[in-house]
Amino acid sequence: MNPGFSLCVYCGSRTVPAFVDVAAAVGRWLGERKCQLVYGGGNNGLMGVMADATLEAGGRVVGIIPHALVDREFAKLDCTELHVVDTMHERKRMMAERADAFLALPGGIGTFEELFEVWTWRQLGYHDKPVGILNAQGYFDPMLAFLRSTVAAGFMNDWQMDLVQVGADLPQLLQALTQAARTRTGTVDLSEI
Ligand code: AMP
Repeated sequence: MNPGFSLCVYCGSRTVPAFVDVAAAVGRWLGERKCQLVYGGGNNGLMGVMADATLEAGGRVVGIIPHALVDREFAKLDCTELHVVDTMHERKRMMAERADAFLALPGGIGTFEELFEVWTWRQLGYHDKPVGILNAQGYFDPMLAFLRSTVAAGFMNDWQMDLVQVGADLPQLLQALTQAARTRTGTVDLSEI
């Protein structure tokens, strides 16, 4: 199967009940459209829920995980493709290469780090792939308010803020990311990352 759209999703490695449904909904959305999920390859938390939902709905799941996490039995072994790599950096580059777009769901420090990294890479021109934040139940409101305050302070500008598409409506946001991925015209060179 050649997937039409490949979405890299960053989300919590813990199961926070309030967001289990939204993680499953992302997986179903991808699976029902025969799309591909690219993610950190973990079995735990919202990540595991989303990957299971993608597989159950008929989608492909590409998990990319470092050896160290596999050794700690965190890997989801029934991914369509499971890539075990040496380092976190190799993992993140491969995740970025395999994706047409990126989406952050509610999560913790790992999710934030991954989101900010692809956002930074985008502003520097290493890639031109769309980046989205699913602001489910206003989870990201405090972070977005802080980031807007950094624009007011002069450390960021509106152009940087506008590089990320923020939405609370899942189908609408996924549609927008798909559309933006189809129409992108720039270049991708992740070789130096
Ligand atoms: P966090 O938001 O801190 O729960 O971290 C989740 C993000 O970090 C995910 O998007 C994963 O890519 C990565 N991650 C954190 N913990 C694990 C784990 N145990 N297995 C696989 N990936 C993980």
